[in-house]
Amino acid sequence: MQPAHKLQNEMTPTILIVEDEAPIREMLNFTLTREGFKVIEAEDVAQAQARISDSAPDLVLLDWMLPGVSGVELARRLRREERTRAMPIIMLTARTEEENRIQGLEVGADDYVTKPFSPRELVARIRAVLRRAHPDDVERSIEVDSLKLDPVGHRVMSDGKELQLGPTEYRLLHFFMTHPERVFSRAQLLDQVWGDNVFIEERTIDVHIRRLRKILSPEGHDRFIQTVRGAGYRFSTQVG
Ligand code: CA
Repeated sequence: MQPAHKLQNEMTPTILIVEDEAPIREMLNFTLTREGFKVIEAEDVAQAQARISDSAPDLVLLDWMLPGVSGVELARRLRREERTRAMPIIMLTARTEEENRIQGLEVGADDYVTKPFSPRELVARIRAVLRRAHPDDVERSIEVDSLKLDPVGHRVMSDGKELQLGPTEYRLLHFFMTHPERVFSRAQLLDQVWGDNVFIEERTIDVHIRRLRKILSPEGHDRFIQTVRGAGYRFSTQVG
């Protein structure tokens, strides 16, 4: 049972939310939990430091304006400590002035998000920062049944035969295989697979899903790409 438990932890990053405003904290907790993250919370820097020494989160979502000691100061402290030096930090800030953004990045934040932000944008940035922090996880090849995706060689094998995927179908399959058993709306897939600031119709996704299924169909792996009525799509090895 031990390896399965370990695998579960590796695939469920823990995010520490440091935010003094309860409604924002609750909204963040709700959003991140729904996205499959484990969430812990702190209201101020003292609580945050206690949580960090208890549980070493994978990423800190850090509000700039906190009562007493500021978020910027906490970022500085985390960067000074050996144990937390590499801990990814995303600053939440209501400040839009360029100078403040630069200050946030100078104290060692990996990214910053300006309030008000869209939950989708925030999640995309969290994933991007986590990917940068753990490049090894991205490089590891993923195998489901006899379907194998090798991110290093950029190849997809089915029963030992190489499949020919277009770049979008490859990214889509990679995203699905690294986020199995969860439903994603078309809007979420757009954000995660196509990236920010891309203006395409949500229906375009259906076209790529159809292509991907066709490519996977000879070995029956198209059954993994499931339509969830009224919700979106899911990669699942269970019968949909
Ligand atoms: Ca605040």
